[in-house]
Amino acid sequence: MTTKAKENLCLTCTDCGTASCSKGDGRYPEFCLTTQLTDKEIEKIVDLYNNDEEVRRIAIAGAEVEGGFYGQYTRVEEIMEFARRIGAKKIGIATCSGLMNESRIFAKILKVHGFEVFGVACKIGAIPKTKINIQEEYIRTPGASACNPVMQAKLLNKNKTDLNVVVGLCVGHDSLFYRYSKAVTTTLVTKDRITGHNPVAALYTAQSYYKKLLSE
Ligand code: SF4
Repeated sequence: MTTKAKENLCLTCTDCGTASCSKGDGRYPEFCLTTQLTDKEIEKIVDLYNNDEEVRRIAIAGAEVEGGFYGQYTRVEEIMEFARRIGAKKIGIATCSGLMNESRIFAKILKVHGFEVFGVACKIGAIPKTKINIQEEYIRTPGASACNPVMQAKLLNKNKTDLNVVVGLCVGHDSLFYRYSKAVTTTLVTKDRITGHNPVAALYTAQSYYKKLLSE
């Protein structure tokens, strides 16, 4: 293997300047992950999209919402449109306790549009952080309850929600929620305490205000 080929082994889509897979112009870079896929691997995935009932329903609904309302709908509206298209009637909201006002407004909007709502806050169960062995140095408020994303998911599962929506769960706690949620889940708010829940701001300003992020 040539040195260049070896270097190419470490290159992935985040090193790509062409995004030809999106444009379909066939100008793939040497290390392109698309060109490394076998026909069999692609056929298997196409088969899944076409013949797995759930995957098909979600993929088509997602594509219809994207294509049909591109640049017209806010994410709140997109979530409702997606819910309608997958036949979801009962929406679960897994909310951060610090975003209760936002979740209340979201629930109100959902109800106005005919959905049933079941919301669960992250501190559900009021389990002290010390009880799950979180070290004192990481507890900002003495006696504070632990975030409990597994219980949030379990309660929504028990209440048979058709679609779950995450509103501002912490990094990691959202990971556990996604893992334990039985219903399909999407995200309305991605928590970022510094940027007003707009995490991409750090990337947009990585050449200016947030250039510290690029230094080791
Ligand atoms: S699949 Fe290929 S063309 Fe698409 S982003 Fe990845 S490297 Fe670039």
